[in-house]
Amino acid sequence: MKTTLRTDITVKAICDGFVYNELEGKGLFGLSGKLTIQPEYQRNYIYADGKRDVAVIESILKGYPLGLIYFNTVSADKFEVLDGQQRITSFGRFVSNKFAIKDENGMEQYFSGIAKDKQEIILNTKLLIYECEGTESEIKEWFRTINISGVPLNNQELLNAVYSGPFVTLGKEEFSNTQNANIQKWGAYVSGSANRQEFLERALDWVSKGNIGDYMSKHRFDTNINELKTYFNSVIDWASTVFTDVESEMRGLEWGRLYETYKKKPYSPQQVSEQVKTLYADPYVKNRKGIFEYILGGSTETKLLEVRVFDEATKKSVYAIQTAEAEKKGVSNCPLCALGHDSNKTKIWKLAEMDADHVTAWSKGGATDTKNCQMLCKTHNRAKGNK
Ligand SMILES: [Zn+2]
Repeated sequence: MKTTLRTDITVKAICDGFVYNELEGKGLFGLSGKLTIQPEYQRNYIYADGKRDVAVIESILKGYPLGLIYFNTVSADKFEVLDGQQRITSFGRFVSNKFAIKDENGMEQYFSGIAKDKQEIILNTKLLIYECEGTESEIKEWFRTINISGVPLNNQELLNAVYSGPFVTLGKEEFSNTQNANIQKWGAYVSGSANRQEFLERALDWVSKGNIGDYMSKHRFDTNINELKTYFNSVIDWASTVFTDVESEMRGLEWGRLYETYKKKPYSPQQVSEQVKTLYADPYVKNRKGIFEYILGGSTETKLLEVRVFDEATKKSVYAIQTAEAEKKGVSNCPLCALGHDSNKTKIWKLAEMDADHVTAWSKGGATDTKNCQMLCKTHNRAKGNK
């Protein structure tokens, strides 16, 4: 990574063309339009609390260093603030009379009201700025490093930084804007929060089949997000058509994968709805999140449901009864071995060599209780379980 330390840029230069957006709560531009202060991937301005913003101005007036500021060089004379946006927005807002500080008499003063020499001190303060230019992986790595002190950026926020451009801007407008009325609807299927980029992340994950970075790199300079939007909507439409009732366990499922796997199969939404209700009411279903894929796959993969297994006490008591009867009859205590013709026909298995089995399968309405429990040797149990 190429870094250039600049010590000649003043507060005045940065504040030339400073734009603050009150509505969005962020500093937008500076340095005569050459600097983007709060690129899309940055957090909003949080220093406007009458303490941290005031502290920035007081530091400048006292000649304290403001610390390092990092610019990402986007092109020949275009920069983005990678680190320092809170400080820059603070002095930008002060110089443009957005907030006041107290003078030595305790009077609130806006920039235009303070003494000329103090104005000059502020405007002529030179900043320590690193202009950095590097490959995407370098910038990503470095961004991770400088962010460890604050709230660390999550993976998608990092990717947004690395692949910043028109595509990310449009993607955020659609998927990261909590004002978007769709967010609530999507929230039934997508977990996380829109402003931490988790909806955008999911949309990208689905359309790219898990290769978010590649996809963002390829589309970085696209001026539309049609494919991303269309694909995301197709997944949500499909999910909400097949499953007409919204259940809380639907949230955060791998809908993109489910869509790809099952989109070509026809379903009767009414039948599906009844199946969902039955499984929700089934006390033996431990994993409700698995219900949806179980139904999509034709109700065969009972593993997905983590159906409750027999407890140890049930197994022990069934084993004792079965073994006593078998010994009386002189046959194996595994009822299936007892039917056979090999040496196992009379074998008495130890408890540890057997497994509990549903006489009537759970999927056919068999309960997980003593009456529906039989002990089979491990071989027979495995063979039966695979049917
Ligand atoms: Zn057996």
